[in-house]
Amino acid sequence: MSANSKFVCTRCGSDEVEAEAYANWDIAHQTWVYDLKENGDYDYCYNCEDTAVTDERPLTDLKDIALVAAHTPIFKSVRSNPDANCVHR
Ligand SMILES: [Zn+2]
Repeated sequence: MSANSKFVCTRCGSDEVEAEAYANWDIAHQTWVYDLKENGDYDYCYNCEDTAVTDERPLTDLKDIALVAAHTPIFKSVRSNPDANCVHR
């Protein structure tokens, strides 16, 4: 299991950031699948109110860690695998 993380603005440290992505409709799963753009030229920081460079950081704030725990399904190993719901009979 990988450590939980968040993306922050490298200028101010805020996690109020947005990243640019392509959205592709997945017919099988009936949902949008987002493909993040690698360069991130147009990431945006709402705290700086400007384009930003973002970086992934491990969660260290107890409030953030508690937030993840509160939203972790009991059957995480099943739900985290989208193909687990594809039962072909
Ligand atoms: Zn910022």
